[in-house]
Amino acid sequence: MTLPYLAVASSPTVLREAERIMLVCNACRYCEGYCAVFPAMERRLTFAPGDLRYLANLCHDCGECLYACQYAPPHEFQVNVPRTLAQLRLESYEHYAWPPALAGAFRRHTVATSLALAAAMTGVLVLVTRAFGSPAAPARPADFYGVLPHGVMTTVFGSVFVFVLVALAIGVRRFRRGVGGTAGLPRVAPARGQTRPTYQALRDALTLRNLHAHGTDCTHREEARSPWRRRFHHCTFYGFLLCFASTSVAAVYHLFLGWEAPYGYASVPVVLGTTGGLGLIVGPAGLYWVGRRRDPAAGDPAQRPADRAFLLLLLVTSLTGLGLLAWRESPAMPALLLVHLGVVLALFVTLPYGKFVHGLYRTAALVQHAAESWAFKPGFVRPIR
Ligand code: SF4
Ligand code: SF4
Repeated sequence: MTLPYLAVASSPTVLREAERIMLVCNACRYCEGYCAVFPAMERRLTFAPGDLRYLANLCHDCGECLYACQYAPPHEFQVNVPRTLAQLRLESYEHYAWPPALAGAFRRHTVATSLALAAAMTGVLVLVTRAFGSPAAPARPADFYGVLPHGVMTTVFGSVFVFVLVALAIGVRRFRRGVGGTAGLPRVAPARGQTRPTYQALRDALTLRNLHAHGTDCTHREEARSPWRRRFHHCTFYGFLLCFASTSVAAVYHLFLGWEAPYGYASVPVVLGTTGGLGLIVGPAGLYWVGRRRDPAAGDPAQRPADRAFLLLLLVTSLTGLGLLAWRESPAMPALLLVHLGVVLALFVTLPYGKFVHGLYRTAALVQHAAESWAFKPGFVRPIR
């Protein structure tokens, strides 16, 4: 089956187009105050593939430079920075993916494939439960480990979690090396009160400061600014973190304190998980709504199926988790548990090969940008390699 996503231009084509556009922008420089991409571009005289992939991951796809550009379509120069950099971001995810054989997965995510994967994972868990646990309702209410023993659950999820961590870490390491890292930068000792590049980049990533640069919200259409993309992104990101914290606290309870699930409604894991779950409903639903209102001329519409698939998996993870919490003492608990765990597994195995990676690559690009801004005085132009 041919997916529309596969129509995205090939790697050399995207790189050539990005280089052409960056050369035009570097001569023009009209947009240098809009975002980090343009100052980073101006530090370069030539654009190797690593430079272009770095610039692509610095872009947060606001569209501002498209609306300002006198060379944008229908001008014959056909300069569309947001779309070109969006296509190059996808190319960079594939280029640095580990293992490389799975890089093609980035172009195969759709809502349908995500739901099919969640169903397949649930099916696998049903078989595992039949082999090692008990698919019937346990004698004790809300006894999750009576359905799927704790050892089996941690083995399955622990293996997937370790694989995901390794795949993501290798991808980011390759990206850092590909963009040159800070190896070619002059070493500058921090002055008193100066923020270190890593802290500055983390602060920028955690606050989404670049989506609210100079006290102004990003555009989503020409002349239309809105804080909602940033707000819904915060709900999604911090909702995810809270759910992760909930699972981590529960693991500490079980492994080190001997306190077994289920935990009370006012306990730390349940409060963290419920709050995070609500964030993972509001955030992805809001981002889907914001995405539908965005100007299709900016960004890469061909990547929308994958973006929506990721949002859907986050949303369904949260809905099934909250459903499990609400009906954990009912006879439906075993089925709800296996469906929820199946969706979580589908979400986890697709993390290194979907939209999730944008946060890591963007943070790595922000670290690089902060290091360059720190090391180079304004007006000092020096190729990184
Ligand atoms: S996007 Fe257009 S206006 Fe902006 S720097 Fe590039 S060529 Fe100039
Ligand atoms: S789309 Fe926005 S973030 Fe991306 S290069 Fe243009 S102005 Fe910068």
